[in-house]
Amino acid sequence: MTTLKKSLLLKGIPASGGFAFGEARIIFKWVQSIEEHLIPESQVDNEIEKLDNAVDETLVELEKWRKSAGQKIGGPVAKIFDSQMMIASDREFLKRVKEEIKSDRKNAAYVYSRLIEETVSPLRVSPDPYMRQMVYDIEAVSQRIINHLAGLGEHQEAVFPPDCVFVAKEFTPGEVLSLYERKAAAIVTTGGSAVTHMALIARSLLIPAVVGVEQAHLKIRSGDRVVVDGDEGIVRVNLPAEEWSELRRRKVKLTGRHIERLQKLPQFPPRTADNKEIELAANIDLPGPIDDILASKKIGVGLYRTEFLYLQNGKFPSEDQQFEVYDRVAARYHPQAVVIRTFDLGSDKYFSDDRQLRESNPALGWRGIRAALDMPKIFRDQLRAILRASKRGNIRILLPMIADIAELRKAMSLLRRSMVDLRKEKMAFDQEIKVGVMIEVPSAAVAAEALAERVSFFSIGSNDLTQYTLAADRDNERLAKIFNPLHPAVLRLIKLSIDAARSHNIPIAVCGEMSGDPLNIPLLVGMGINQLSMSPSRLFNACQIVSKMRCDDAVRLADEVLRMKNLKEVEGRLLEYNMSLQ
Ligand code: PEP
Ligand code: MG
Repeated sequence: MTTLKKSLLLKGIPASGGFAFGEARIIFKWVQSIEEHLIPESQVDNEIEKLDNAVDETLVELEKWRKSAGQKIGGPVAKIFDSQMMIASDREFLKRVKEEIKSDRKNAAYVYSRLIEETVSPLRVSPDPYMRQMVYDIEAVSQRIINHLAGLGEHQEAVFPPDCVFVAKEFTPGEVLSLYERKAAAIVTTGGSAVTHMALIARSLLIPAVVGVEQAHLKIRSGDRVVVDGDEGIVRVNLPAEEWSELRRRKVKLTGRHIERLQKLPQFPPRTADNKEIELAANIDLPGPIDDILASKKIGVGLYRTEFLYLQNGKFPSEDQQFEVYDRVAARYHPQAVVIRTFDLGSDKYFSDDRQLRESNPALGWRGIRAALDMPKIFRDQLRAILRASKRGNIRILLPMIADIAELRKAMSLLRRSMVDLRKEKMAFDQEIKVGVMIEVPSAAVAAEALAERVSFFSIGSNDLTQYTLAADRDNERLAKIFNPLHPAVLRLIKLSIDAARSHNIPIAVCGEMSGDPLNIPLLVGMGINQLSMSPSRLFNACQIVSKMRCDDAVRLADEVLRMKNLKEVEGRLLEYNMSLQ
């Protein structure tokens, strides 16, 4: 007798974009409860030796992952494992564990886990999300040590078929690397957030991931058929048989690992059905293995979110460290342009130190350019590093969260001073470097004329522009119906910005999520957007729409849509046009 499996629709946090499906594999990897027992005096040394061995084995694993991350993603990500190795070998902590094994004559696993719990429990309730990130790192390391103490070793040695969707309470960064090697289709976790190291690595490896899915590891069972939408943060479990067969039939189109899909992209720029070139570019958070593929297809970077350099370590990298990273990215993509956005920290991208005061409205608080201008030394280090990496002429600077011309003036003054210093120091840089602003605060769109006079390009951050225009938190699931960049009010602000850019003859891009949605692409092109920059996982579908649409139709479509007064009408019309292309 066959039992019908319950279909579920689970919502979580989008952590790594892309769409994938496969059979679920639940990973219950950690020792769930640790028994406490008294050990005879004669066993004490033995227990301490077991602890040392478990630490050594963990260090060997972490070293292996560090190397693998270095090869696949690059130096900055490999540093995550450096800090995990420091946690694993923390001498003071291990000394305390050993002393307690001796004094209490308790088993090593129990003493170790008790002291870890004592360390992390105050951090778990810390208001600072980076303290909570620290908890993930400590737990990732300590669980491995405890597993070795329990003689479980690495769960990853198990054999899995390719294209599984891996589900767990948490995955560590190292485990994500192992899952990548096992050709994971996607990752779903109960815990986590979009800025954990695990999420960063999943994004760098293009593995779709949804995190923070309530009780995912208990609600989903191994063997369930799971569809993961990493852009929307949606996980569908046990699709009806017909839908599942349809997905399998279209498998070649939809899956294949994302890197392979990127390799199948046409040479850029793609052309519309009426033979017009459309400029598509990639958004990158951390340089990674996909850079070579993107560069080989002549795809440039429309938005490089440099704040992830800070977020991955909770520390600002020095000027030289930044120079190394920016220079590598610029060299890889040359002659394609790389738009480097200066640090956009604050709000949902927290400072891990006490710079960020508790704010009741963080999205309206000390973030982006406001924070950068208040930390001139840090900002100057970044500007100097970007300038030094600009000598090939393909770097552009993008300033985030500009709400007022005074902010632009101050940032430009810092930039000019950095240029003067570099000239004195006889350092080469692009003397004509182009500087643009993000249009993501409504005041910037309204004052776009004045901004356009002073910059070389605009880039619309539709995520924040939508959030601020509609007063709807971009991360609040309950407001998902309200948060929509196609709202006529948002479209009007985009139109104002395009008009201002046109009248001053500067290019204008969209780099928020809306530009990667095939439904929106004809509209944005028709409105006069010059470049659409999106998460790499969306480039494939974007190219397909571009090849089917016509520019003359898109212009008519945009005229029509801009006259519409409500969102439903806009969505309906765009959907209708999209269907006509299928
Ligand atoms: C945006 O706001 O649309 C944008 C691209 O910036 P971020 O998503 O990094 O805030
Ligand atoms: Mg933004």
